[in-house]
Amino acid sequence: MERALIILKPDAVQRGLVGPILTRLEQRGLKLQGLKLMQVDEALARRHYAEHEGKGFFAGLVSYITSAPVVVAVVGGKPGTVELIRAMVGATNPAKAAPGTIRGDFGVEIGRNLIHASDSPESGEREVAIFFRPEELIVEWGRAADPWIYE
Ligand code: UDP
Ligand code: MG
Repeated sequence: MERALIILKPDAVQRGLVGPILTRLEQRGLKLQGLKLMQVDEALARRHYAEHEGKGFFAGLVSYITSAPVVVAVVGGKPGTVELIRAMVGATNPAKAAPGTIRGDFGVEIGRNLIHASDSPESGEREVAIFFRPEELIVEWGRAADPWIYE
């Protein structure tokens, strides 16, 4: 099953937007496989964002993501789910994100863009493995609404 790691970043938690953002994912029909509140330390931040090491925004990104608690979630579904979530999240810079997207509705600046979502199924697997132990996840669970969401 294809899945994405979602991080509701410190600004989302501080602004009381955990509920509204998770609601959007739930209402779309996406299924949670894991969910927790945690504080990201510097080592975890550097590992998660390793692809951005050396870029001008890296130090600010690490200090932002480690500055206060985050909510991390694993969201899974059929093939295409990761792309669907990225479309809901919107462009990296909220100033350029389309209205109707999470960043386009709740954010204004790139350095405070509220949410992380894995950018491919491969990134999803890598990122889920660094934030969750297998026993913290429920990968397959029956949901009464499933036949009304997936044909
Ligand atoms: N970021 C930033 N300034 C930039 C580019 C990125 O602060 O110029 C931050 C921002 O929080 C972004 C994260 O670094 O979400 C990771 O960047 P990426 O290009 O992977 O964007 P995303 O996949 O989150 O849309
Ligand atoms: Mg990215």
